[in-house]
Amino acid sequence: MTEPVVLSTRDGSVARVTMNRPEYRNAQNSAMTYALDAALHEAAQDDEVRVIVLAGAGEHFSAGHDIGSPGRDIDRSFPRQGLWWDHVGASGIEGRIAREHEVYLDMCLRWRDLPKPTIAMVQGACIAGGLALAWACDLVVASADATFADPVIRMGAPGIEFFAHPWELGPRVAKEFLFTGERIGAERARELGMVNRVVARDALDDETMALARRIAEVPRLPLALVKQSVNRAQDAMGFRDGMATAFALHQLAHAHSSEVSGDPLLGQTARTIRDSA
Ligand code: ZN
Repeated sequence: MTEPVVLSTRDGSVARVTMNRPEYRNAQNSAMTYALDAALHEAAQDDEVRVIVLAGAGEHFSAGHDIGSPGRDIDRSFPRQGLWWDHVGASGIEGRIAREHEVYLDMCLRWRDLPKPTIAMVQGACIAGGLALAWACDLVVASADATFADPVIRMGAPGIEFFAHPWELGPRVAKEFLFTGERIGAERARELGMVNRVVARDALDDETMALARRIAEVPRLPLALVKQSVNRAQDAMGFRDGMATAFALHQLAHAHSSEVSGDPLLGQTARTIRDSA
């Protein structure tokens, strides 16, 4: 039996969804993103669940999208929630845009609007696509050793598909973050408003669960209304429009990288990205 790539557990009214590819620093292959989608749907539909914690097993929250593990599965079809055509076998950008829309953009937008509070519990590396998962959650609790980076400029792209950088970091810091691809630490991320709380690594689990239980005592309707109010305010300020433009530019960048180098990732690998971030 192989281990499931996502684990779902429950502690009272708090559901816990855990990415479970620790040997690959929870790199997100499609098997994982579709399993996350299923687990979050299940938690959303479960009336006993009031708050959802998203976690990563092992030393790191997530190294980002899987661009090199043995389980990389970009050429595999999955039953889709969204309405994009199947990417497998599609030529040019037809396949890439359908796949990235579905697994890297639409899923994250869907999870962002899940009508129950969600908390990302982040330790170790939270790199590139890992940011999208943390950012799709309402709150982020990080251990003091957590680091955050989006180094995909090295692939020629203007940041990951879920382009929330200006909102998470502010425009000026977002530019520096993206220009340099450098890591920022948990405390800096908290100062910028990207992280709610920074706690010691060995207290991360207890502190996150305590916060989740506290929120879970609030009736579910006002929680959902708060969430909708904040998200719609952000949308009204251009969150979705900016993200749609950045996604189109991201696709243009993949196409350019492919045209000039034959590789939409411009020759970057999991190792070069890890070493650069
Ligand atoms: Zn991409």
